[in-house]
Amino acid sequence: MFCIPKGVLRPAWAPISATLRLPLLPHCFVNSCLGNSDVCSSPLPGFPFPSYRLGLPRLDPAPSASACSSGSTFTFGPGAAKAGSSSVVPEPQPADLLCGEARGSSSKMISLSIKRPLVTMSFLLSSLLMLLTAATPSWCQSSETTSPKASNRAPFPWNKMRLPEHIIPVHYDLMIHVNLTTLTFGGTTEIEITASKPTSTIILHSHHLQIPKAALRKGAGEKQSEEPLRVLEYPPQEQIALLAPEPLVVGLPYTIVIDYAGNLSESFHGFYKSTYRTKEGEVRILASTQFEPTAARMAFPCFDEPAFKASFSIKIRREPRHIAISNMPLVKSVTVAEGLVEDHFDVTVKMSTYLVAFIVSDFKSVSKITKSGIKVSVYAVPDKINQADYALDAAVTLLEFYEDYFSIPYPLSKQDLAAIPDFQSGAMENWGLTTYRESSLLFDAEKSSASSKLGITMTVSHELAHQWFGNLVTMEWWNDLWLNEGFAKFMEFVSVSVTHPELKVEDYFFDKCFNAMEVDALNSTHPVSTPVENPAQIKEIFDEVSYEKGACILNMLRDYLGADAFKSGIVKYLQKYSYKNTKNEDLWNSMASICPTDGTQRMDGFCSRGEHSSSHWRQEGLDVKTMMNTWTLQKGFPLVTITVRGRNVHMKQEHFVKGPDDAPETGYLWHVPLTFITSNSDSVQRFLLKTRTDVLILPEEVEWIKFNVGMSGYYIVHYEDDGWASLTGLLKGTHRAISSSDRASLINNAFQLVSIGKLSIEKALDLTLYLKHETEVMPVFQGLNELIPMYRLMEKRDMNEVETQFKAFLIGLLRDLIDKQTWTDEGSISERMLRSHLLLLACVHKYQPCVQKAEGYFRQWQEANGNLSLPSDVTLAVFAVGAQNPEGWDFLYSKYQSSLSSTEKNQIEFALCIIHNKEKLQWLLDQSFKGDTIKTQEFPDILRAISRNPVGYPLAWQFLRENWNKLVQKFELGSSSIAYMVMGTTNQFSTRAWLEEVKEFFSSLKENGSQLRCVQQTIETIEENIRWMDKNFDKIRVWLQNEKLELL
Ligand SMILES: [Zn+2]
Repeated sequence: MFCIPKGVLRPAWAPISATLRLPLLPHCFVNSCLGNSDVCSSPLPGFPFPSYRLGLPRLDPAPSASACSSGSTFTFGPGAAKAGSSSVVPEPQPADLLCGEARGSSSKMISLSIKRPLVTMSFLLSSLLMLLTAATPSWCQSSETTSPKASNRAPFPWNKMRLPEHIIPVHYDLMIHVNLTTLTFGGTTEIEITASKPTSTIILHSHHLQIPKAALRKGAGEKQSEEPLRVLEYPPQEQIALLAPEPLVVGLPYTIVIDYAGNLSESFHGFYKSTYRTKEGEVRILASTQFEPTAARMAFPCFDEPAFKASFSIKIRREPRHIAISNMPLVKSVTVAEGLVEDHFDVTVKMSTYLVAFIVSDFKSVSKITKSGIKVSVYAVPDKINQADYALDAAVTLLEFYEDYFSIPYPLSKQDLAAIPDFQSGAMENWGLTTYRESSLLFDAEKSSASSKLGITMTVSHELAHQWFGNLVTMEWWNDLWLNEGFAKFMEFVSVSVTHPELKVEDYFFDKCFNAMEVDALNSTHPVSTPVENPAQIKEIFDEVSYEKGACILNMLRDYLGADAFKSGIVKYLQKYSYKNTKNEDLWNSMASICPTDGTQRMDGFCSRGEHSSSHWRQEGLDVKTMMNTWTLQKGFPLVTITVRGRNVHMKQEHFVKGPDDAPETGYLWHVPLTFITSNSDSVQRFLLKTRTDVLILPEEVEWIKFNVGMSGYYIVHYEDDGWASLTGLLKGTHRAISSSDRASLINNAFQLVSIGKLSIEKALDLTLYLKHETEVMPVFQGLNELIPMYRLMEKRDMNEVETQFKAFLIGLLRDLIDKQTWTDEGSISERMLRSHLLLLACVHKYQPCVQKAEGYFRQWQEANGNLSLPSDVTLAVFAVGAQNPEGWDFLYSKYQSSLSSTEKNQIEFALCIIHNKEKLQWLLDQSFKGDTIKTQEFPDILRAISRNPVGYPLAWQFLRENWNKLVQKFELGSSSIAYMVMGTTNQFSTRAWLEEVKEFFSSLKENGSQLRCVQQTIETIEENIRWMDKNFDKIRVWLQNEKLELL
């Protein structure tokens, strides 16, 4: 899934949020995939405090369920789930043996089956089961409060979130009939299963479906017989139990047949309703699916866990005026009744349920064929199909790239990309039918921005990478989600840098790592591979750690092993595990025999480096698994402190963690692949730091040394003594002596060190002064990412004087660069993005040359009734200025309603949110929440944008509190959208009064939100903001006084 859209006013320039932290919308980055949907995007000139992004505390275990008889408690949840373990079902507990039949899988019963013939065993079992299930013993009933009860109050025979392992689905035949008038659907699911243990209870998932009938079919051909199954439903676990009159026989094929019906979902998951308005104003309805991670069960009863891979034959019934598309190509269409057509799709490859997809709509499409003969099509609503060409070409190019790179052919004959008018995240990788937000796929050549092009390319690249990483090879359980998402995020950069070199995506990679580190520096973060159990916990790990940290540690490994060695390792992994499921260790084992490019292979599968010019370079061996376990199994990342004494470079590693100064040391150690350059040599030197301290000896003394070259490593570096002074001097003198990535990483690291008290705020601010001469996009963006949050905090604390001085300092710092900007769309993608951001910054802060020009453009645009074509790079600044007066605001809103361009709509949305008029801001919240004229999918971005507005933030916080229950219903507890909204409305607070108010509200929610990771994140962030302001605010005020003369 592409987490980008995590809300996000992903204005044209914001789609990048998917790939790039935009300085003006830092708030959006706070959760880059906050979970799900990774991107954020709202570009308000408001900033959260990036350095204070919170870690992601884990949810508490799911409620524990007591076993029925003994009073002994069986807890499910992370503790019982054994993260990373291959066991799908926790060990049977004593009560499992006593209450209910599914527990027939207990060890006692198994011992019977070993010693007796099958028939005898079956008989014994069924007799025992009848005893146990038909007449539930009184000692079971005595614990009524804790033992699962089905919705009809009968005992429910399974008390775990995870399904039992002994019923295995092999093939699904789905027939689904959707009625877009009544907004209902019905269908029949036939699932071929086998049993690996005798049992008469089949547990599977079903959520919000009515099931009038279920049956079990035995045998094949003419010998088939069918018998009814009793159905029990247990909504708390989203499960049903099908009870057979007698146990299934091991090894025989059975088919369960379930008739069911449901309503199209009003949310963004399951089989859900979407609408759009035609140019003529007619509202049309379609139905689409979003199943990842746990919503396939809302569309058909199924074994809804990623390890239960099966094949699917799908039939969809629809009206003749619509079309249906699904994972596989259409085989035939049959008229089954008057006005009712049934489409039959080809049988799928073996795959997980969360990748199934189908859409019934009136979409149009455009298609092309790849070199290897795969038909690629883009589907969209008819009025926007002319915006599909860019994505179509990108998809063809990227699919061809991946087939070549992975050396594994794409296994289906087609790939459809569909733009859905209502979509919660950025995109979804359903096999053969990827789905997208319209703004993540459709490109309007006239109106779309440079960042929109970059964002669309990256999103398509991400979803197509998943066709291998995720679809072909799937994580066994959601605890290893990073194997899907970290790789897909990483492959975005690998593929697009080759297929679209003009986009220079590699420049933006390190920003992903900064983004992840802000969350990962908090005490409440979690390891990359982390236990999860229930649906809310599963949704929560669609976050920065799974996506961005995952990608960053893979990049670090690639840098260390060499690109070719790394590639051969992942190809080996994909080939070995095709159509299977994997765990963390399977990846490292595949890498174990791969050596660094300049290494030599040893018999034990490890590698050793050859001689190296650096005296300390020679390492004893390379154990990929041990090294990478330090990055995936423990949380956080290291701070590496460098002290230079003559030719000796002393290195020390410790856990980089924010929080009170007296927090205890964690004692974590990493295998850190260090890289460095010096004033005497720009060739990259390497050193694997495995111990707490070490020393390396340089051939000669140097003036400066810079570690983590190009930010390829996932760690922060502190330079003791005059190390920072040397680097600041270098930047002020000849900043081009090091790369723009290195300059950006110095800016980032300096401010990170301020927040843990290792560097003074004055020194960090001094370092930014060189930006007066900077022209490259990433160091400028990084500077803004560090500086804007500071005045954002001041805005919420009534510190007008210093706040005004600080903003003047910022504009003064960048004024030369702002003045150089042309008001055109000329230049490379990065030059265009820089222009868009700088002009917006300048205009929002009332830099008069900018404001006057923007006012002129807005006037002309308004006089032409919006038909004047503005350069897309300057449109945001023009709209932001135009929206400042009520007449301009109303005009912009009228254009919003009729615009067919996602970029333009996002730009207008952003502009509407920065007005200092409370009534209009409240109206925006109300309208976007309602969803009639502004789609509800935009609500998280609008809420967050208004939270960044100095006048609007109390309204946003109030709105969140008053509508919490409805928000959770629509966007789902644990989703990245909810996290995005929680963080967005609260993480810039920096007073104790606000902290108490936030704590009080969330604790009052109890199980409906108090345990969310994002709540812990935001509380930790506010605490950090308070400490930061207490420590640094006065120093900033004094520093500004001293700097004033120099800059102005
Ligand atoms: Zn993804």
